[in-house]
Amino acid sequence: MRRVIGFLILAAILVAIAFGLGALPGQIGATFGSWTVQAPLPLVLVAAVILFVVLYLLVRLLALLLSTPGRFGRSRQERQVRQGDRAVTRAFAALAAADPKAAQREAQRAKRLLPNAPMALLVSAEAARLAGNPEESEAHYRALAEQPDAAFLGLRGLLRQALDAHDWTLAADIARRAELAHPGASWLRSERARLALRTGSWAEALALSGPEAPRAVMATAAAEAATDPIQALRLAKDAFAADPKLTPAALAYASRLRAGREARKAENVVEKAWAAAPHPDLATFYLEPVTDPLERVREAERLTAFNKNSPESHFLLAQANLAANLTGEARRHAQAALAAGLDQRRLWVLKADIEDADAAAGGGEAAAFAAHEALRRSQTARPDPRWRCTTCGAEPGAWHAACPSCGTVGRMQWTDKTVPASGVNVPALTLLPGATAT
Ligand SMILES: [Zn+2]
Repeated sequence: MRRVIGFLILAAILVAIAFGLGALPGQIGATFGSWTVQAPLPLVLVAAVILFVVLYLLVRLLALLLSTPGRFGRSRQERQVRQGDRAVTRAFAALAAADPKAAQREAQRAKRLLPNAPMALLVSAEAARLAGNPEESEAHYRALAEQPDAAFLGLRGLLRQALDAHDWTLAADIARRAELAHPGASWLRSERARLALRTGSWAEALALSGPEAPRAVMATAAAEAATDPIQALRLAKDAFAADPKLTPAALAYASRLRAGREARKAENVVEKAWAAAPHPDLATFYLEPVTDPLERVREAERLTAFNKNSPESHFLLAQANLAANLTGEARRHAQAALAAGLDQRRLWVLKADIEDADAAAGGGEAAAFAAHEALRRSQTARPDPRWRCTTCGAEPGAWHAACPSCGTVGRMQWTDKTVPASGVNVPALTLLPGATAT
C-alpha cells in the first residue's frame, strides 16, 4: 500500500515538473557560421537530459567491456580453488580409509589444481607414503618444509621417515629444525629426548627429559661421555646428588674429584655412598691408593664405620684382614657377614681361603676340613651379586646406563636375584636395539 502511495506521489511530482517545463517561456538559439538554430527551452532541457543518460550508459558499457577478461579469469581461478579443495578433502578421506589408489588420484588432482598449496603437497606426500613410495613422499615433504607457514608439517613427515629408517642422527637433526619451526611442541620434545638417547647424546637427553626420567643414570652417562673435565665434574656431582645410592654416579663424581687433586673430597663422596648403599667397587676405589695390607685394614675400618652393620662392611673387613694375615679377625667378620644375611658364593670362598690360610700357618687337619666344608657350601650358596637388567634379565658384566641387550635406560640393578626384580620405581626410557649404549 505504501509503495502504491509512493508511486502516485512520484508520478504526480514528475507530471508537475513536465507541466512546469512545458510552461517555461523562451527560446534557445545557437549560431554556427551562416546557420542559426532556434528551439524552445523545454525541448532543449529534455534533449540535454537524454544526452546525459546516453553518455552515462556508454561509459558504463565501455568499463564493463574492459573488465570482462579479469573477471572471467577470477571466476575461473575461484572454480579451480573450489575443485582443488574438494580434491584435497577426498584425498584425506581416501587416506583415512587406507585406499592408496584413490588417495593418489585425488592428490594428483589437488596438486594440478593447487600447485604448491601446502595441503595439496601434504596429501600428495601422505598418499605416496601409503602407496609405498618413500622417495616421492620425501620429495613432497621437502617441498612442504620449504614453505614458511607449513614447514613444521613437512619436517614432521621427514622426521617420521627418518625414524622408520632407523636413521637416528638424521632424525635428531630434523627434530631440531622442527623445534625451531614450531617451538614448544611437547611430543617433539619427548621425541628429541628419545632420539638423544638413541644417539647416545646423554647431555642433550638429560636437558630434554622430564622429572620422570632416570636423571641420575643419565647424568652419570653424560659425565662419562663428557670431554670437558669441568662439565664432567658438574654432571657427576648432579648424578650423585640425584641418587647417592647409585654406585656408578658416586664413582664418577669421586674419580673426577680425585683426578682434580681433591682426594679428601673424593673419600667423603665414597663414605656417603657407602652409608647409602655399600658396593665392592666403592671399597676398591677407596683403598686403591693404599698398598700396605695393615694400612688397608685401617682404611677399610674407616670406610665401614659409615655403615657398620651392613654385611658388605663385614665382608670387606674379612677380606682386608685376611690379606693382612689376621685370620682371627677375618673369620669373625666373615661370620658376621653371614649372620647379617650375606649367604653368597663369594663369602664361602672367602671362608675357605681363611681356613686355608690357617691350615698353611699350622692350623692342622681341622682347618683343612673347614676349608673343604666351606668350598662345598659355596656350591649351594646364592650366586654372587652382579649388574643385571631388571627388564630383560641380561647380565652385561658391568654397569650400563642403557641395557646393551634391550636398550632400556636406568634398569641396571646390583643384585644376586635371578628373576627380574619387581616393584622397581624407575621409569624406563626404552632404546631400540642397535642404539649406542653407555
Ligand atoms: Zn635389558
